[in-house]
Amino acid sequence: MIARVTESPARAQVESSHVMDPRQFLASRTAEMQQQIETLCNINSGTYNIAGVERVQNQLIEWFAPLGGDMQRVPSAGQLLIDDQGRTVHQNLGPTLVISKRIERRPRVLLCIHCDTVFGPDHDFQKCRQLDANVLNGPGVIDAKGGLIVMLHALLAFEQSTYAERIGWQVVINADEEIGSPGSVATLHALAREADWGLLFEPTMPDGSMVSWRKGSGNFTLVVRGQAAHAGRDFAKGRNALVALSRLLVAIHELNQPTHPDWGDVTFNVGRVAGGGAVNVVPDLAIGRVNIRVRTAAQQTWAEAQLRRLVGEVSGDGIHVAVHGEFSSPPKEIGKRTEQLQRLIESCAAELGMPIQWNGSGGASDGNKFSSVGLANIDTFGPAGGEIHSDREFLRLDSLVPSAQLAAAVLVRLGDV
Ligand SMILES: [Zn+2]
Repeated sequence: MIARVTESPARAQVESSHVMDPRQFLASRTAEMQQQIETLCNINSGTYNIAGVERVQNQLIEWFAPLGGDMQRVPSAGQLLIDDQGRTVHQNLGPTLVISKRIERRPRVLLCIHCDTVFGPDHDFQKCRQLDANVLNGPGVIDAKGGLIVMLHALLAFEQSTYAERIGWQVVINADEEIGSPGSVATLHALAREADWGLLFEPTMPDGSMVSWRKGSGNFTLVVRGQAAHAGRDFAKGRNALVALSRLLVAIHELNQPTHPDWGDVTFNVGRVAGGGAVNVVPDLAIGRVNIRVRTAAQQTWAEAQLRRLVGEVSGDGIHVAVHGEFSSPPKEIGKRTEQLQRLIESCAAELGMPIQWNGSGGASDGNKFSSVGLANIDTFGPAGGEIHSDREFLRLDSLVPSAQLAAAVLVRLGDV
């Protein structure tokens, strides 16, 4: 089910009577962009705060309306979680906002960024503060509300230019990226399959470099069941789920081999355990949670096989292990078309006098999901700053206009490819 967003009649398409070069159009927009970022960051949109997420989207609908695209809100599939009792629980999540313009035109560019943050309504960090002339501190200033505003202004500049007719585009703003996009992934995949290029507006690295490859990330929950028994009267009848899980988790941890030529990049992080109760009862249930990161598809296959092997080794004799989870973000490896996009970005950046450095990252983004269905993309068109996911998160204000200029220049050039 897709809900069409009704456009306010007062909003018209961007006026074409004042066409200028996208670079000039953006040159003096820092103050306006800052104000919009502060407005968005002062609205709490922690992933599970669905009302807050929708308030941010309502504000975005108003600001994106002058672009004249078709706007839709796609409801989320929600998320299935395994709780600490091993039960499957359904969690609702916020919708995805999709804005489409000239999608019959080729190439079609997919522009994507999330509107949720890691800071829920109970967190102390709720408002923006300007720390000095160039530094804005606030929840989501670069992750990723700064990126939302950079994307908006890049599109406003592009749409008023004479180049606009040469490409089609879709904007996708999801509300669950911070938990791995479980409820929006089907929409992301469907849009990515139809697109030719992907631009995502995650922040650059703290030193200003853009991200090339990214590791894949998989979260796995291991639900171990044994046999409960009284520790005094029937100890021998018990099958201890907690001990079986402990053995399994230690074996998983020992798969980390940092110097191995093939698997050295793979990390297994045992992140959380739950289980047991009264100390005079043999525990029949234990839950372990593990995050696995891989650089390549071959490493992913190897890691999954190792997990299956170790689970097989602890299973049997009254112990049963269920494995939930997957690599929801497969590794983002760099293919030929992504390399082509990198060269195009470098050329645009050189014209703007801003040299580009590329770096790999162990962190996944929705760019991984686009790559997994074959969409070449670069995912760090957002502004510069650092300390994301902490109350020290900051944005460098002087990066806003250059980031928007770079994205607008790339949109112009994609019309030639
Ligand atoms: Zn984040």
